[in-house]
Parts: sequence; structure tokens; C-alpha cells
Amino acid sequence: IIEVMQMKKSFGSLDVLKDVSFDIQKNEVIAVIGPSGSGKSTMLRSLVHLEEVNGGSIKVQDQYLVKDGAYSSQSQIKAITSRMGMVFQHFNLFPHLTVQENLGLAPKYVKKQTKEEVRKNGAALLQKVGLLDKADVYPGNLSGGQKQRVAIARALMMNPDIMLFDEPTSALDPELTGEVLAVIKQLAEEHMTMVIVTHEMSFAKEVADRIIFMDNGQVVESGTPDQIFNQPKMERTREFLNRAT
Ligand code: ATP
Ligand code: MG
Repeated sequence: IIEVMQMKKSFGSLDVLKDVSFDIQKNEVIAVIGPSGSGKSTMLRSLVHLEEVNGGSIKVQDQYLVKDGAYSSQSQIKAITSRMGMVFQHFNLFPHLTVQENLGLAPKYVKKQTKEEVRKNGAALLQKVGLLDKADVYPGNLSGGQKQRVAIARALMMNPDIMLFDEPTSALDPELTGEVLAVIKQLAEEHMTMVIVTHEMSFAKEVADRIIFMDNGQVVESGTPDQIFNQPKMERTREFLNRAT
């Protein structure tokens, strides 16, 4: 569903992504792990065009977002990225809008959905993440775990083909991570295609079909959780896992 070929990204003289290549199959759950600064967020942000790469290609469902460093037209980029939902570490909810209004924003303006459609989808998704009773509450009155579940529901409102998560639990108190991971796990069971950058190794092991290990702007190794955690091929992977687990 996504094919990334020799993606390169630098900030000034800093090469953050060096020839990163991988693909994501439909219905696959991929966990991306790796040390701080290895380029995980930059990689994820590049897939949804929050960063522009300096070279390489990103193909989504047979359409190029960027091909050999040349970006497609704005309308094509919009069409491609609107099929992807992104969830950030820090939720990024609008504080002056209620939960329901946060959910409705993009569907109303981007998808031109009616009030009734938005209300109905919103209620169904809040139910799914266990927050139906919080529809009229402002984000400031929610716990971190609840905010993140709202952020997930908001991304799902656009009915995405792919969900991308950038460390969805790392801003949360430990006792709140479980409720967010449970929602992501439920999506995995429903075979949502997902890419999850995470420091939660046990969660990655449990939920991912495939693990990608990044270090220093490169994909060092990828494989099933069993391959990566129990029989890593690369010394760098082994070292990282020894430190992280
Ligand atoms: P973490 O696990 O800490 O979130 P990461 O693997 O997500 O790390 P990135 O955030 O992708 O790493 O950052 C990779 C490198 O790029 C880092 O050295 C970072 O300082 C640098 N970087 C990221 N964004 C920018 C930016 N907008 N301008 C300049 N440098 C940046
Ligand atoms: Mg990051």
C-alpha cells in the first residue's frame, strides 16, 4: 500500500534520512523502533508530507507522492495524504473546541460531510474509543490518555486507509498508556494498516506483524518480532535491544 524507495532528507548539513527504503503491505501492522534522533519521526512525517524529502520516492496505492525527488501536484498530494491518518505524541487537539467539534473539523471542511453524518460518525468513533460521554467536553478537561483516544478517533473520522502513530504513549503517565495501546490493538485486530513508532518494546512485539529497526537515518534491519527480538542479524540491533529492554 506504501512503497518508500531511497528516501533522503537532510536539515542543512545534517543527513537525517539516508536512502531509506521499505514497504508496507495492506492490513499490515509495522512497528518502527530505534534510538532517539535516528530519524523515525522525520520518516513518518515525510509519508504524510509534513516534511519534504530531498530525494527518493514515496508511492501510495500506485500514486507517487514524490518520485525521484520530484513532488506531484498539490491536488494529488492532498488526495494521497487525505487517505492517511496521523496521531502525534502530543495529541494536537484544538483546545477551544469540544471533543465533538475536534472530530468534526476535517470531515466538515475537507470531506464536506453534513452535520448529521459528522455527528453520527463522531458518536460511533467515540463509542469505539470508550469516550461517548465526553462529546461535549473540552480537551483541557480530559486526561492524557483520553486526549490521545480522542486524537485517534479524530484521525479515524476521515476513514483513512493507513494510520500512522508517532510515539502515541510516550507523553503519558505509565498508568494511562494501557488504555491507548488497547485502542491501537483493537484497530490491529480489525486489520487496519498501521505504522507505529514506539518505545514500547513489549507492545511492538505483541501487536506488530513486522518490526523496522532504524539507526542513524537508515533502516538497519526489518523482520518479524521473533526475528528482530530473538535472533537479530545486526550487531546494532542487538545493542539497541539490550539497552532498551
Ligand atoms: P526521538 O526518538 O527522540 O523522537 P527520532 O528518531 O524521531 O527521535 P527525528 O525527530 O526524526 O528522530 O530527528 C532526527 C534528527 O533530525 C535529529 O538529529 C533531529 O535533531 C533532527 N531534526 C529533526 N527535525 C528537525 C528540524 N525541523 N530541523 C533541524 N533538525 C531536525
Ligand atoms: Mg520522534
